[in-house]
Amino acid sequence: MTKVYKLFIGGSWVDSNSGKTFKSINPATGEINGIISEADEGDVHQAVQAARKAFESGAWASMPPGDRGRLLYKAAQKMWEKLDFLAELESMDNGLPINETKYIAMPATIDVLEFYAGLANKVQGDTFASPSNRFNYSLREPLGVIGAIVPWNFPLMLTMWKLAPALAAGNTIVIKPAEETSISILELAKIFQEVGIPDGVLNIIPGTGPVAGNALVSHPEVDKIAFTGSTETGRLIMQTASHNLKPVSLELGGKSPNIVFNDASLEDAVNGSMFGIYFAQGQVCAAGSRLFVQDGIYDKFMDLFFNKVQSIRIGNPLDATTQMGPQVSDKQLKTIEHYVSCGLEEGARLVTGGKRYEHAGSGYYFSPTIFENVTNQMKIAQEEIFGPVVSVIRFKDEEDALLKANDTVYGLASGVWTNDLQRAHRMARGLKSGTVYVNTYNMLDSTTPFGGTKQSGFGRELGVQAMDMYTHTKSVWIDLNKNGLNWYGV
Ligand code: NAD
Repeated sequence: MTKVYKLFIGGSWVDSNSGKTFKSINPATGEINGIISEADEGDVHQAVQAARKAFESGAWASMPPGDRGRLLYKAAQKMWEKLDFLAELESMDNGLPINETKYIAMPATIDVLEFYAGLANKVQGDTFASPSNRFNYSLREPLGVIGAIVPWNFPLMLTMWKLAPALAAGNTIVIKPAEETSISILELAKIFQEVGIPDGVLNIIPGTGPVAGNALVSHPEVDKIAFTGSTETGRLIMQTASHNLKPVSLELGGKSPNIVFNDASLEDAVNGSMFGIYFAQGQVCAAGSRLFVQDGIYDKFMDLFFNKVQSIRIGNPLDATTQMGPQVSDKQLKTIEHYVSCGLEEGARLVTGGKRYEHAGSGYYFSPTIFENVTNQMKIAQEEIFGPVVSVIRFKDEEDALLKANDTVYGLASGVWTNDLQRAHRMARGLKSGTVYVNTYNMLDSTTPFGGTKQSGFGRELGVQAMDMYTHTKSVWIDLNKNGLNWYGV
């Protein structure tokens, strides 16, 4: 029987006011994973009110921080117990191979929750060097109600990047999942409720971006928006949030350069570059979608890269041997096809792929694709495709590589493959991006800040640093004079 999911508001599961629902589809089979209530402005308003009430009541913000952390830690333990279930749900919803959800995304998600559970009682202010007749210190306080808007590529993980630090700091939250992937986030709410997170602290309002998402961003009672998604939507969100000067953090798109020098270890560079672009079917914001290969190693590298790409196992995400599943939706598949035709029209050479992959069934499968003879001016070198398509560009030397790599509006991540230590460090400094990987790719850790520069957004998620985005600093002044304030000696 098809599962039915309601909105999660103030600790209750409720139908949307309009009674409207939408379907969540399994991209590998076209089957319905669940029927989900669709929130509109009124529902969003109720969710924000519930979050506000929970915040103002102090049930969460005034709870001893250690107890708050323990509850979050309890939720993490429950998530470990349900790891297989959550991994399967997510694979069925967005098509990620089960090995990637079970062994990469889900453990990383829980690790983030544990990390911030531990930070709940380490939020600290400062004392300042004030004169002896005054005492001046600061408090770090939660902001209030956080609105979180997340995409479909790593639904639980990207939710947790916001939810965990927000709650650890004492905020309450309203989450708008992506239309394609609400289910695992709604199941997460059950876990949080089960361990005793107070009602209203966590609220989930599935729905569309232009309606539910926009209502959340425009709501005057939301104190901050944390967004992950496309640069285009990020721009809209910033505009809307400007009406009431709400702070926003934006984790947006990328067109990340992955640079292979002549002196790289060939096999490692090939394997790492494959992981860089084909992991999660290329639906990774940091994907190494522009592959720069130096002249001297070019032919050898491309031979090996081409051969290895032929061996990628494409199939049902729930099959443990699958390395690439379907794209998330037909819409996404069509976007990829559009970019493939742009590449061909602009004169790039299609080395392999470039079409739907029909052998795996009726799902939204696309073959791993390589374009070469790409120039930096082509659309396939400048625009984010968000699919398994890599644009290979030759380069002469370090200077040439840096120039081309930085010639983009994006600045999320970069990769460098070299055995020259000094070059590695020079490149790490020269590349304009929030992250640089050296002889590796797509690494993440709860402890390490992640985010973009340029049009890849701003703000840093993960690490201790992310707590700054969910707290504000309050300065407190105390007069220590016995006779009170001395106004010009009067
Ligand atoms: P998207 O921008 O279309 O949607 C993201 C979320 O925003 C969804 O929940 C959507 O419903 C919502 N939304 C859409 N329009 C809205 C509006 N007008 N107001 C408020 N909310 C709105 O992006 P997507 O297609 O779901 O995700 C893919 C994009 O996300 C890619 O560009 C990718 O690079 C980016 N991404 C970035 C990171 C990162 O950390 N930088 C991580 C993952 C994905």
